[in-house]
This record gives sequence, structure tokens and C-alpha cells, in this order.
Amino acid sequence: MRVAVVGAGPSGLYATDALAAAGHSVDVIDRLPVPFGLVRYGVAPDHHSIRSVRNTLEKVFLEPNVRLLAGVEVGSDVSVQELLDAYDAVVLTYGASRDRALEIPGEDLPGSIAATDLVAWYCGHPDADRERIEAALAAVTSVVVVGVGNVAVDVTRILVAPDERLAQTDMPQHVLDALASSSITDVHVLGRRSPAHATWTTKELRELGEFDGVDVVVDPAALDMEPASIAHLEADRVVARNVEIIREWSQRKEHAGQKSVHLHFRARPVEILGADRVESVTVERTTIDESGSAVGTGDTFDIPAQLIVRSVGYRGTPIDDVPFDSRRNVIPNDEGRVLPDTGVPIKGLYVAGWIKRGPSGIIGTNKKDAAATVASLLLDLADEPVKSEGGIDNLLATKGIEPIGFDGWQRIDAAERALGATQGRERTTIHTVEQLREIAQQRTQ
Ligand code: NAP
Repeated sequence: MRVAVVGAGPSGLYATDALAAAGHSVDVIDRLPVPFGLVRYGVAPDHHSIRSVRNTLEKVFLEPNVRLLAGVEVGSDVSVQELLDAYDAVVLTYGASRDRALEIPGEDLPGSIAATDLVAWYCGHPDADRERIEAALAAVTSVVVVGVGNVAVDVTRILVAPDERLAQTDMPQHVLDALASSSITDVHVLGRRSPAHATWTTKELRELGEFDGVDVVVDPAALDMEPASIAHLEADRVVARNVEIIREWSQRKEHAGQKSVHLHFRARPVEILGADRVESVTVERTTIDESGSAVGTGDTFDIPAQLIVRSVGYRGTPIDDVPFDSRRNVIPNDEGRVLPDTGVPIKGLYVAGWIKRGPSGIIGTNKKDAAATVASLLLDLADEPVKSEGGIDNLLATKGIEPIGFDGWQRIDAAERALGATQGRERTTIHTVEQLREIAQQRTQ
């Protein structure tokens, strides 16, 4: 079979690997000029070992039956229906790239941004709004980060990390410069429920307390657990370990660092205040009911801050020709088979990764998830005749679209390493589509 995989992130490349191993040909299509999705544009640049998954994922392009077609946007350059006509099967793995809103007054003020925007900026994503983010970071001393998941930890860590740590990353130079000149001294992290309900993982949480000169400050009262939190704590060893780390921080008396990370629990933002940019955030104290939900108490306090970063999850978006569950922000499916309201799966159309199950899990979670989708695909199509003519090369040529292949990525890879070497780093991310395209399309004379 010939299969089109839409999205060259981890789930797309794990699906490709499984399909190629079963002897099928795969075209991996991505709207960006480079592959790797969230491994390049989401995993924190200072998490070198997680980012190195890229080296493993990249190997799939060395298979003779796998091609990269980067810089082709499904939905605008080519439709899902055109792909279904041209391939035996299509696997959508385009992720969940949009932010979720808090829906509180003041959210549109300058200085109120989504973690997705900040992450895109520091990872050198071509779509990042550099001007807006750098304006939001200017002259900031105090930041509020909303949410207590791994993205919130990433964002907090990057905002307080020592310059030497960031200098070892592949962040674009303008990002390093902006962070090095930042005047941030305090980051307030808000969890609307108890420490037992935070979704961060232990290694990531612990790292927050490992920088010289950065204190983690927690009110010991945060550790007074209500029945729902105790039940949660007792049921999950990771949660219990995390709570112990927080307890240890809460007992520290010395806070002599130049920077502080304040962890607030049972605290949710209700309003963002400021005349023409963020000046403070009004936070309501909550209690946790028997079901484990946060309930407002009406008791509020203000945190002075010039920047608020909401890190309350990602959401998927619909694509033309494909059903969408707008409540869960995923493509409805049965074990990866795209399922419209009729209850009969659309022939040849599959999903994997975050657009299938929502933004959860770690990178490795996508391997199992993609394998399950590919298993459904192989089972369904085992006895179907394959299309004699396949692929979208002619279609793209008639539309004047020149995709970037793996050789193009290899040229970008070499250019990023060369740029990094000039700055004493292993790599520096090139962050504009124009430059990435230009490098990818430079043919050797
Ligand atoms: P997440 O783990 O779902 O965390 C979202 C946080 O936002 C939760 O604390 C949630 O609290 C809070 N929240 C949601 N709505 C809120 C509201 N209206 N007001 C206040 N708080 C609100 O999601 P994430 O941090 O975006 O991470 C996405 C996925 O990527 C996760 O699976 C994560 O583990 C993964 N990831 C992994 C790594 C890593 O392995 N190093 C790094 C980054 C991301 P409630 O629980 O109360 O809803």
C-alpha cells in the first residue's frame, strides 16, 4: 500500500515506522519545512535527552519506502479528500497545537500569553510571534504561570534558568539574548487544586529546585490535605513522591536566592488587572470537594505581575472533510478509525497521537498509540486491492508546490550545526520559513 501520514511529529513517525516495517510505502507530509513536530517545537530545549529522540525518529527516513514531503499544508495546499483519492490510506497525526483560554476578564491585555506561544518562541517555531512575546517579557519582574502540569514546569524553569544552562541549548540567539536580559525575579505558579492533583512528573518537578540562586517557596498549609486529595495521594506513587518533594520545599526556612518560584495551591485566577498591560492577577482561594474538584471560596488576593502565562492545556483543531468532536477537541475514532456520526468508519482514514486521544502522555506514549492505529489499518485493508497509481507528486507539481524532502532536512540540519558551531553550541535552531526553505532548496552545484 501507499499511505500518507499527515504530521511528522512523534506519533506520525512512529506510525510511519510501523507501516514501513510491514512493507508499505509512506509519504510523511508536514506543513512546516522541517520534521519532528513537538520534539523540535515543544520539548524544552534544555531537556537534551528527550530531544535526542529525534535521532531515533529520523532513522525512519532512511527506509527506501519512506519519503518526507515537508512544507505542504494539508487543508490548504492539498485536501484530505485529495489524499484519500491518491493513497490507499491516510493517517492524520497533526497533533493539538492550539492553546486553551482561561476565559477570565483581562485575558486579552498585553502581557497575558499562552504557554504554547512562549514555548513556540523559545523553541524557534516559525509561527512564533516574536515581537509580541519579546514585548510581553520586557521589564517584567514578576510572572504568574497558571497550571501545574509539565508544560507549566518547563515554562517556569526556562524563565528562571541560569544563562549558562540555556547557552547549552539550540534556542535561537535572539531568544537567548532576550532571556539573558530578563529582569524576572519571581514566578508564581498557580494550581487550582491541591499538590496531590498536580500533573507534573517527578523528574521535571524536582529540577525546579536544583538551580543555585533560585528558591522554591511553598506555604506549609498547602500540604494540609482534604479527603479527596489524600485518596488521590494514596492511589498513586508518583503523586506521593511529588508531594514529598513539595513538603520538603515547604519546610525550608532559608530563602536567600536572587530568584524565587512560589508554588500556590487551591488558587485560581479570576481576573487579570492592568490599564494597558498586565499589572496584577486576582486569585481566588479554592477548596477541594469530595469529587476532587476545585470550588471557589470567594476569598481573593492579588499577585503583582507584569506577565501571566496560561499553561492549561493544548487543544486540537478540525480539518476540512474530517469529522471533529468539538467538546473533546479530537477526531472521533474507534481504535484509530475515523468515525463520523453515522457510526461507520470512513474508509482508509485513520488518526494517531494527540489529535486522536487529546494532549496527554509523554513522547513514548505515542509509540503504542500509533502502533494500535496501524494495527487497525492493516487489519481493515489486508484484503483490499491497492491503488495502481498513487501519491501526490503530480498534484503538487500542478499546484506549483515543491515539497522539501529528507535531503532538504539534511541540509537544514547541517546548516543549524554549522551556525551552532559559530556560537560554541552543538546546534542553533533556524527560525524562519524563508531561511529554512532557502537552505533546504540549495542544490549542490
Ligand atoms: P496538563 O498536564 O493537562 O496540565 C494542565 C494544567 O492546567 C493542570 O494543572 C490543570 O489543572 C490546569 N488547568 C486546566 N484548566 C484550568 C483553568 N481553567 N484554571 C486553572 N488551571 C487549569 O497539560 P500540559 O502541562 O499542557 O502538558 C500536556 C502533556 O504534555 C502532558 O501529558 C504532559 O505530561 C506532556 N509533557 C511532558 C513533558 C515531559 O515529559 N518532560 C513536558 C511537557 C509536556 P486541573 O488538573 O485542575 O484541571
